[in-house]
Amino acid sequence: MKNRITTLFNIDYPLIQAGMIWCSGWELASAVSNAGGLGIIGSGSMYPEVLEEQITKCQQATDKPFAVNLPMLYPDIDKHIATIIKLKVPIVFTSAGNPTTWTQHLKSHGITVVHVVSSLKFALKSQEAGVDAVVVEGFEAGGHNGRDETTTFCLIPMVAEKVTIPIIAAGGIGTGRGMLAAMNLGADGVQIGSRFVASIESSAHQNFKKVVVDAKEGDTVLTLKDVTPVRLVKNEFYNKVQAAYERGASVDELKELLGRGRAKKGMFEGDLVDGELEIGQISGLIHEILPAKEIVEEIIEEYRTTLAEQSTKKYQF
Ligand code: NDP
Repeated sequence: MKNRITTLFNIDYPLIQAGMIWCSGWELASAVSNAGGLGIIGSGSMYPEVLEEQITKCQQATDKPFAVNLPMLYPDIDKHIATIIKLKVPIVFTSAGNPTTWTQHLKSHGITVVHVVSSLKFALKSQEAGVDAVVVEGFEAGGHNGRDETTTFCLIPMVAEKVTIPIIAAGGIGTGRGMLAAMNLGADGVQIGSRFVASIESSAHQNFKKVVVDAKEGDTVLTLKDVTPVRLVKNEFYNKVQAAYERGASVDELKELLGRGRAKKGMFEGDLVDGELEIGQISGLIHEILPAKEIVEEIIEEYRTTLAEQSTKKYQF
């Protein structure tokens, strides 16, 4: 497979693993890159010295390109950026913030920059800021999300109509068929998160991985829009958030209820009751915990089979 995304990142398949806090360290990122996709270290949950160690280990585990995801809300972002430059990470995916803040600085150090957005407006702003590609992430996605609830199916063609830089689709994609659908709508590649949470190499707690494979349609919800919109599993913690909304809680009360470190508690420490369990709607279609390499191979194989099928009877009328 050779297209704008494989060329931009120098990878075999336009399949990118999402940077996910508490779930994507060097083991997952290097496994995905070694399998021909692009692995990403999710730096949002890593203290500066942890990120440095994770990048070094990833460099030892693969000679293929990999990236770091950098949420703009991260408190010590300048330290993360200094580490990324020092260790010569070739690609950075920025998210949850303004693309104009760091893009030119990163690019001046020869780094390829991709920004994650959930709307056409921010895709255009990212292009104007000089990023090399955008991830367009729909309402179905797990974790941080947009407020507008635009689905991936609507977002991809709307962005493709107006933007000239390469587009990576995210949100609700976990299979080869889903990847092909996204490409048919105008994407040049896909970013997949939830499916890789349920991988052997993901650093998610085993309890959380089990929740993902047991999840059914309707088990996740996009909530806390007034604080930071996030899609998560409807567990006891979510019930408390919902009860707070029902009694008309203020933003400050919601922030107090959220507290600090909820995501770590749920996804990394495996507290399924009080923790925050961030996962996408596609979890309803994930039934097994597999090695990352097998996930990549399965998705690419299904993509190719489905593409071949498209010339058969099923698609003709
Ligand atoms: P909280 O404020 O609830 O907690 C901070 C967490 O981050 C703690 O668990 C802490 O670990 C860890 N941490 C790592 N480095 C630092 C640091 N330099 N200063 C303070 N805390 C640090 O935040 P969240 O857990 O909700 O989010 C953490 C980060 O992840 C944010 O930057 C956020 O933007 C990002 N994020 C990204 C998401 C995405 O979808 N891309 C989803 C959710 C969050 P410890 O407990 O060991 O102190």
